[in-house]
Amino acid sequence: MQLRKPLKSDPLPSERTRPSPFPNFPPQSVIDDFRAWVIETGRPDLWLHHDPSSPPRDAEFDEVLRFVIPESKRADVGRATCPICSPLAPKYYEGSLAWFRGEGVLRAIGHECAKSHFGEAAVARSKFEGQRRRAEDYLLATLPLAGNLKMRARALKPVAAAMDSLRSVLLRAGSKSAWTRIAKLGAGGSLPIEKLEEIHIVDGFGKASSRMEARTVNRVPVDGLSFIIERFLTAAEAHNAVAAAELINTCTAEEALDLVIQLSPRMDDLLDAERLLRSALAAVEQLERKVADARAFLSPANLQRLSDWTLDLRVDAGLVVSFSMQTPFQFKVRSPPREWRTLPVPPELRPAR
Ligand SMILES: [Zn+2]
Repeated sequence: MQLRKPLKSDPLPSERTRPSPFPNFPPQSVIDDFRAWVIETGRPDLWLHHDPSSPPRDAEFDEVLRFVIPESKRADVGRATCPICSPLAPKYYEGSLAWFRGEGVLRAIGHECAKSHFGEAAVARSKFEGQRRRAEDYLLATLPLAGNLKMRARALKPVAAAMDSLRSVLLRAGSKSAWTRIAKLGAGGSLPIEKLEEIHIVDGFGKASSRMEARTVNRVPVDGLSFIIERFLTAAEAHNAVAAAELINTCTAEEALDLVIQLSPRMDDLLDAERLLRSALAAVEQLERKVADARAFLSPANLQRLSDWTLDLRVDAGLVVSFSMQTPFQFKVRSPPREWRTLPVPPELRPAR
C-alpha cells in the first residue's frame, strides 16, 4: 500500500484525529458494562466511554438504552450532568445512553434532552432502531449456535417420559408430603441434621427455667430434589419444546446473515423470528436443566448421601431411602407402614459416561 501525499483540502490533524471509539453501534458487552456501572455507581456521567463534550445541534443519534439512577444511590451521588443542557451542574435521574453515529461516541444524556433537543419523533425512531439492532444482533449470534436445537429437543422426549414415571413411583413409595418436606428442607442444596438441646434461662426476676431447642449440627449436601416435586408432566414440557424447536432451521453463520439481511427491513418478521428463537431456546434449555437435576438426584453419590441422611437417628424424614454402591442403579424407598419398594434407575437417567 502506498501513502498519498497530503492535500491542501485535507482536514487539519486536530479535526481529523478526534477519537471516534464507536464507529458502529456499541456491542452488547459495552451496553451491559454501562448498565452494570450505573447500577453499581449511580454515575452515568463518570462512565469510561461517556463523552462529556456537547454534541452538534443537528447531530443524529440512536438511543442505546434508557436508564434510571437507582433510588438507593441518589442520596449519595445526586443527579447526573447532561452534556447537552447542563454539562457542569447536576441535572437528571432518568436518562438515555445515546450513540452519536456522526462522531462515533456515546453520551449519557438526560431524558428531557433526549426528547426535546432531538424531538419526540427522533426518540421514537431511535428506540425503534435500537430494537431492530438488538433483534439482528441476537439472531446473528444465536442462530448458528441453535442449529441442532431440534435434535436436542427430540433427544429429551424419552428422558422426560422416564422422569415422569420414576417420579410417580417415588411419590407412591415414599409419601408426597414427606418428599415435599424433604425437597423444601434441601432446596438450598443441603439437608440439615438437628439435635435437640436443653437451654437454661434465668429471667429478670432470677427465676430459672429450661426449654428444648433444635440446633443444626451438620448439613448433608444433596442435589436435584426439585425433580421430585415438579408440578407439571415433564413429557408435556418436552412436547412443547420439540414443537418450538421444529420451527428453527439449522443454519450456518452465513445463512444466518442472509436471513437477517432479508428480514431486517420488515420489522414485524424480524421481531417474530427473534421471539421464536428465544422461546425455543429457553424451552429446550429449561428442560435440559431439569434433566440435569434428575440425573444429579439419581447419581450414586447423591443417593448414598440421601440414604445416610434418612437413616440418621437424629433425622425424622418421614421416609427411608436405602442404597448400596454394590448396586448403583437401584435404590429402595419406604414410608412406614408401607413396604419397601425397589426403584431401578432408568437407563435414560443414568449418569452420562
Ligand atoms: Zn439535558
